[in-house]
Amino acid sequence: MLLTINKLSKQYDRGKVKALIDVSLQLKAGKVYAILGESGSGKTTLARLIAGLESPDQGKIYLNGKLISSDSQHLPAEKRSIGFVFQNYALFPHLNITKNVGYGISDLPNKTEVVDEMLRLVNLEGYGNRYPHELSGGQQQRVALARALALKPPLILLDEPFSNLDSSLRIDLRTEIFRILQQTGVCSVFITHNAEDAMAIADEVMILKDGQLLQQASPEILYQQPATPYVASLFDTLVEMSAILLEQFGFAPVPTNRYYLRSHHFSSNQPSDYNLNALVTQTTFMGQYYHAEVAVGDQTLGIHFSEKPAENHIKLGWQESDLLIF
Ligand code: ADP
Ligand code: MG
Repeated sequence: MLLTINKLSKQYDRGKVKALIDVSLQLKAGKVYAILGESGSGKTTLARLIAGLESPDQGKIYLNGKLISSDSQHLPAEKRSIGFVFQNYALFPHLNITKNVGYGISDLPNKTEVVDEMLRLVNLEGYGNRYPHELSGGQQQRVALARALALKPPLILLDEPFSNLDSSLRIDLRTEIFRILQQTGVCSVFITHNAEDAMAIADEVMILKDGQLLQQASPEILYQQPATPYVASLFDTLVEMSAILLEQFGFAPVPTNRYYLRSHHFSSNQPSDYNLNALVTQTTFMGQYYHAEVAVGDQTLGIHFSEKPAENHIKLGWQESDLLIF
């Protein structure tokens, strides 16, 4: 195991803010990971603890089996050689691109070759004499990546690397960075609040909420077997199916369970395991689907239909295999 984290906790403001609570996870060499969570969920805190920019209150971090962090031990950041790419690029404005990329490897005898190799890798050959302000945001982020990779780290952390870029650029850069990281084979951890970015890039995604790790799994497992309704809600809008509603559909719920369906898992006037008369009160065209407000029983549900319902009075249906049970 490249990195093992055991029950890591971190508080701020004398315990008023619990930024991380009992987080345990493992990272394997050569894999691409994503940490996914909303703002304030503890993503940056976790990255800073791994990098050694911060010490934990409790718990332990091992790198290649060696203890590097605990409440009493702390290997300083510069001795961990873990790469870090920040959201705001954090390039040195007064240094040209060559000097920025070579910044951490000034002691290496073959520094010039490594810098050239890195600039080639990130597709910025010939940009060495430029200054950061002469590059676009996406190019600056690639320089930041080159600088981190120049150290040949075993692990690289990228904290929201795309969030300062607009969406078309974001997807191009995401593809490009993914290609670069796969080429180098370095274990990487992408930190993001964007579920699509996480799913697109990562072998495994770790979901953080309020400082707690809810699930670490492949994108497929996260989608098919979400550990909590919150995890499922990151990828789709959900409709909670109350016991009363399920009974109206003719389904017998277990009282201690909670049941959900994804909004697009309802059908209108199609053969289905369970169905009920319903009234479409409003439809909105959303491009990929029609959002419909549907009154059924004494509830109104938000449903995504692939086609516009032909009539307002429909048979609303769903399949038992699509039911998410918690
Ligand atoms: P994220 O990166 O997911 O947005 P952070 O790790 O930055 O989350 O923050 C987690 C929580 O810890 C937040 O409530 C944040 O306000 C708090 N926090 C982070 N850093 C500090 C700090 N240096 N002092 C006090 N509170 C902090
Ligand atoms: Mg953050």
